[in-house]
Amino acid sequence: MAFDFKMIQQTYRAFPDRINAVRKLLQHPLTLTQKILTGHLFDEAANQQYQRVIDYVDFKPDRVAMQDATAQMALLQFMQAGKSKAAVPSTVHCDHLIQAKSGALEDLKTALSTNQEVYDFLGSVSNKYGIGFWKPGAGIIHQVILENYAFPGGMMIGTDSHTVNAGGLGMVAIGVGGADAVDVMAGMPWELKFPKLVGVKLIGKLNGWASAKDVILKVAGILTVKGGTGKIVEYFGEGAESISCTGKGTICNMGAEIGATTSLFGYDKKMRDYLVGTDRADVAEEADKVAEYLTGDPEVYATPEQYFDEVIEIDLSTLEPYINGPFSPDKAWPISEFAKAVKENDYPQKLEVGLIGSCTNSSYEDITRAASVAVQAKEKHLKVKSEYTVTPGSELVRYTIERDGLIKTFEEIGGVVLANACGPCIGQWARHNADKQERNSIITSFNRNFAKRNDGNPNTFSFVASPEIVTALAIAGDMTFNPITDTLTNENGEQVKLDEPHGLELPAKGFAVEDNGYQAPSEDGSGIEVVVSPESERLQLLIPFAPWNGEDLTGLKLLIKAKGKCTTDHISMAGPWLRYRGHLDNISNNMLIGAVNAANDQTNSVLNQLSGDYQPVPDTARAYKAAGIGPIVVGDENYGE
Ligand code: SF4
Repeated sequence: MAFDFKMIQQTYRAFPDRINAVRKLLQHPLTLTQKILTGHLFDEAANQQYQRVIDYVDFKPDRVAMQDATAQMALLQFMQAGKSKAAVPSTVHCDHLIQAKSGALEDLKTALSTNQEVYDFLGSVSNKYGIGFWKPGAGIIHQVILENYAFPGGMMIGTDSHTVNAGGLGMVAIGVGGADAVDVMAGMPWELKFPKLVGVKLIGKLNGWASAKDVILKVAGILTVKGGTGKIVEYFGEGAESISCTGKGTICNMGAEIGATTSLFGYDKKMRDYLVGTDRADVAEEADKVAEYLTGDPEVYATPEQYFDEVIEIDLSTLEPYINGPFSPDKAWPISEFAKAVKENDYPQKLEVGLIGSCTNSSYEDITRAASVAVQAKEKHLKVKSEYTVTPGSELVRYTIERDGLIKTFEEIGGVVLANACGPCIGQWARHNADKQERNSIITSFNRNFAKRNDGNPNTFSFVASPEIVTALAIAGDMTFNPITDTLTNENGEQVKLDEPHGLELPAKGFAVEDNGYQAPSEDGSGIEVVVSPESERLQLLIPFAPWNGEDLTGLKLLIKAKGKCTTDHISMAGPWLRYRGHLDNISNNMLIGAVNAANDQTNSVLNQLSGDYQPVPDTARAYKAAGIGPIVVGDENYGE
């Protein structure tokens, strides 16, 4: 039986009445987004029409997901809530703290010893409060969620920007901060400004080298990194129905890169197949019973301009593969124009490393399509020119691709298979020679490519593409290679062309796994003690803040007014700082050190108004704190994206 099956049944049971009531109230057909949002109102019955981007509305999400870096502070906060159990099904996933260096086995072993204290803490808190715990090596949060917990029509919040990945299985899934997760786990309402709605109509069918990744790379080019802010993006049309469930996940995953609140697709046959393929036929049967409530009304999709605030149409049949970057995921180049862009912009032409995987692109389909390209290197006597790494998204995928001989295929072209974890995607990459800060190009199938994100080197030009394009370029070792039109010279001196990739949405022999890495919580956790050493530099129990005295805040000083992009990476850098995510005092030493100060265009240099000197942001904040002065932060674009 699927996890939390009863909760899913209850959600579906309530849907018809709730959604029909809203339809009656509004007197018009509904988008899927409206159905799911109104199906999850905290106060159950919708009795008013919510104004988009104006009204704040209380919701009741079905579940909460947390990754190991952000879960630490969230759970430290939850321990203060005085509850014996989380109010909704919740999970913790150990994926961010594993550093990629030598390969899966060795890196996992190192992580288990360097992060033992944190894993023990997360494991024991989860055990105590009824939270499912996915151990290190089990996989990346969003892939594990898609494989086990996401369900059509559900609503989830998660302490990670790419929680939105679950929209691929028809959920409204939203990335939030730890405090929001704590509210929901404590049984309180969760507030969201009612979003605007963007409809993306997909017509035609993907073919050749084009993949689901290229849909979102194109959308990112159209909407840019801030075009989705305050909006939910709903995909529909015959093209949407032709894309695999995991492909839909890829598209929704990178919705975070356009700043969208979330993205989603309606329930269809591809989702049904995926549910059945991942051992959840029971959920599929329940979804079938309420299928009309798990997608937008036909009238909406027939005349979308009447119901969405903005409509985009993309013809999949003519879609080209895209390469986006460097330094921003919305800098979209169709592959036919990319070689020119490399030359005109003086991007480093030699490709140093191709990296595939991450939560964005590590499904069985992604891996099989990439492997279908990789295998051609051997068949066509091509010497692979770049380094090449593979990050499987979960142990379920890793075990299955090993059984099916695909890991061997990658290893035969010199590929290194990394642990089932985030690794290079979040700067957890002990890349050799990165400290020399040389200009170089890498290409990944990940989602983000901001400066320093992958290896800490500001001179690494990071580009984003589909796993199959990454693989083709890694074979060529050249950023200007276009596998659709270009040939390569093989070891016999012959000109050879790579064939189009092909893959399988689901494994022909079904998925397999020996140990998926899941640890169920105790039924009664009251006797479990959570121990945190007062000497720890990684964990620190929280002391409740003094309650607000009800008066206006006065005499505050401006700490920083940020300029330009101010994403989560600028607010709290990842990489080496991830180790302090459970220690409020220590992690405060990286607060906003990546944000550009609008007053002097510098990072980590702000005016300390007490001393008159320019000082690092955390030092200045500490000086104000010591003087009993509250600081003000003014964010700019993409704040907290
Ligand atoms: S793989 Fe990358 S984007 Fe995905 S959860 Fe991990 S760090 Fe975030």
